[in-house]
Amino acid sequence: MARYMENNDAEDFPDLSDSDDDQWQSMEESPDSNLKVLCLFCDRWLNSVDDTLSHCKSEHEVDVASLLRIYKLDDYGYIKLINYIRTVKCSGESLFIAQEGALPWESDDYMRPSLQDDPLLQIDIEDLCGAEGPGPCREQDGGPQSSSALMQRAQRAEERAQRAEEALARAMEDLHRLKQLAQGLVLNADVSVGGAVADLREDEDEAYFSSYGHYAIHEEMLKDKVRTESYRDFAYLNPDVFRGKVVLDVGCGTGILSMFAARSGARKVIAVDQSDIVYQAMDIVRSNNLQEVITLIKGRIEDVDLPVEKVDVIISEWMGYFLLFESMLDSVLYARDRYLADGGSVYPDSCSLSLAAVGDERRHRERIAFWDDVYGFGMACMKRAVVPEAAVEVLDSGTLISDPAVVRTIDCNAVCVSELEFETDFCLKITHNTLCTAIVGYFDIFFDKNCENKVTFSTGPQCTKTHWKQTVFLLENPIPVQTGEELNGRIAVRKNRKDPRALLVSLSVRDVKQTYSLQ
Ligand code: SAH
Repeated sequence: MARYMENNDAEDFPDLSDSDDDQWQSMEESPDSNLKVLCLFCDRWLNSVDDTLSHCKSEHEVDVASLLRIYKLDDYGYIKLINYIRTVKCSGESLFIAQEGALPWESDDYMRPSLQDDPLLQIDIEDLCGAEGPGPCREQDGGPQSSSALMQRAQRAEERAQRAEEALARAMEDLHRLKQLAQGLVLNADVSVGGAVADLREDEDEAYFSSYGHYAIHEEMLKDKVRTESYRDFAYLNPDVFRGKVVLDVGCGTGILSMFAARSGARKVIAVDQSDIVYQAMDIVRSNNLQEVITLIKGRIEDVDLPVEKVDVIISEWMGYFLLFESMLDSVLYARDRYLADGGSVYPDSCSLSLAAVGDERRHRERIAFWDDVYGFGMACMKRAVVPEAAVEVLDSGTLISDPAVVRTIDCNAVCVSELEFETDFCLKITHNTLCTAIVGYFDIFFDKNCENKVTFSTGPQCTKTHWKQTVFLLENPIPVQTGEELNGRIAVRKNRKDPRALLVSLSVRDVKQTYSLQ
């Protein structure tokens, strides 16, 4: 095999694949097919590489092995030397003249064979130089390559290839680790600085707002009597909060809260919504003859310019599943910090997030054990996909097996965005001897500050159901619990860095930790 063809870096050299015959220096055909190797310095054809090198040494006083040693030539240097000698037809003597600077055969042009299929280019210089390998050679007799020498060459090449493969695998592993590290950095970068949701570009938040453009979601919210009647009662039963005041409705939707505020005596209501539902709200406000009081503005509260400097009251219905899903509270806090006058208030003014233990083996079997035998096939691996997704569903209150525990209260007039991510211990007082199969989460809402008639509602499993239902975190392996026992755990609530409107909730119960996503 021609050595220069072995070289994977051939692209670095003149295009050797271009076998334009004219480029080959025209050489006479061997007069005798037995004579295969043309001498480097005369027209003699010799029987073998070995004979040729011996002939060069005895007749022309050029020991090629010595040249390699003197000039410390490697494989490429040797190839160039042979091609140079044949191309320029130099004397043997000239090769030993001390060279200043570059060697005359340095140019990559001499990688191009001067003689087609030159047998002198088909030897291994390690054989020529002996066991010391290329570079400074030791004198040796340079015999033809034996099959054992070829075997050794092949073995060495194989070892080199194996080492290269191992190095490549290590590099790939490093690359993979770097990639994971980079992804982790992106995922964990504190995008909440300055308000994650406020920082979202309009196109990034498009899906969110277009979901609120459809009437159905507003119909569902308006028909949720627990929710809507609580806002109505708060407004109508506490006219002092609204009378003569300037009110900002963050995310007005159909305009229902703005109209409650107007009816309760607000002097001016500014209603803002980024979704297209605001165009319906314009019609609704006009058809209820409230256009003198209510000003509707389409846009993100973070982007719009309000026609007033400050407002006295901010109302908003921003709550998502498990209270914080959607992160709309970020926008309300932005509005509070920017527009709320001293002494003003945000409503609802406080809320709490609670957890309780659930024992519902039937539901657990339906969702988890189901995968052990699906039409006679095991699909247990699917559990790994099912468990980490928190389920939004109405929980049968009969399956509660503990007292609830409040894990977080939020004062909407004081909290800041960074505090909406938190981590805390909790303790659930168990009320049954049974298996704990899940933890349920829900929230309570309070209209309290300055309210003559306080209003509150709960989204808990023991109360009238709301469109928020409850959020259920399944435990992959149920935990046996005893009446009176205190089941200790820890909860961490974080925004999903990839999507700050989604939440990641980590629960550790009896030292088993599971992270759940809400999206
Ligand atoms: N207040 C209405 C609608 C509540 S749903 C009601 O109680 O029925 C929340 C509304 O807030 C959606 O219409 C949504 O488009 C809007 N919204 C959410 N974030 C907003 C933001 N940053 N700027 C403007 N509107 C927003």
